[in-house]
Amino acid sequence: MNEQALKKFFEKLERKIFLSNSYKEYAHIDSPLPIGYEQTISQPSLVLEMTRILSPEKESKVLEIGTGSGYQTAFLAEFSAKVHTIEVIEELSKQAKEKLSKLGYSNIFYKVSDGSSGWEEEAPFDRIIVTAAAGEKPKELIKQLNVNGRMVVPVGPQIAQDLLLITKDEKGKIKEEKLMKVRFVEMVGTYGWETNRF
Ligand code: SAH
Repeated sequence: MNEQALKKFFEKLERKIFLSNSYKEYAHIDSPLPIGYEQTISQPSLVLEMTRILSPEKESKVLEIGTGSGYQTAFLAEFSAKVHTIEVIEELSKQAKEKLSKLGYSNIFYKVSDGSSGWEEEAPFDRIIVTAAAGEKPKELIKQLNVNGRMVVPVGPQIAQDLLLITKDEKGKIKEEKLMKVRFVEMVGTYGWETNRF
């Protein structure tokens, strides 16, 4: 992907659009902020870095788990062909859809469900990004990754996770790299932490 264009977009996209009135004044701070329902919008520098690592291309079909505020989704929609995004909290999905539609994105497809098992009808995906902490490596998502695909996923306990880059080569062989420690809100559902919440 064109990293300079990504940087430019990062500087242009107003994060406050994705925040409620009481948090808009903190939009420029490089930290996660509350978006309601005990969830947070990610830290801007991490959104930038994860997008860079994911490295979507113009023709990529992308799967995102954890729509949240829709802030990360905007980056994906800007730099790829299609984004399929799954959020488990209906109200967050609805709000994100309103905001992203207003910004003019018509290449985003929304689903309200447990995204830890992916979106089988739409698979395979060239890129998969998970923005909630998975308790274990989400096997279903790896299955739904296309050949020559890239997947970025935080895996580990609530306190801190390893950000993994999982790649699939043209023969379908999987490679895995630990990139850095990150801290995301926990993923719920099949491959999440608290299966019994469902
Ligand atoms: N990228 C988002 C981050 C949101 S926080 C942003 O910058 O706004 C992570 C989100 O993942 C939360 O909204 C949470 O509800 C959602 N989530 C948690 N487990 C999930 C699951 N199993 N499937 C789909 N979404 C999930």
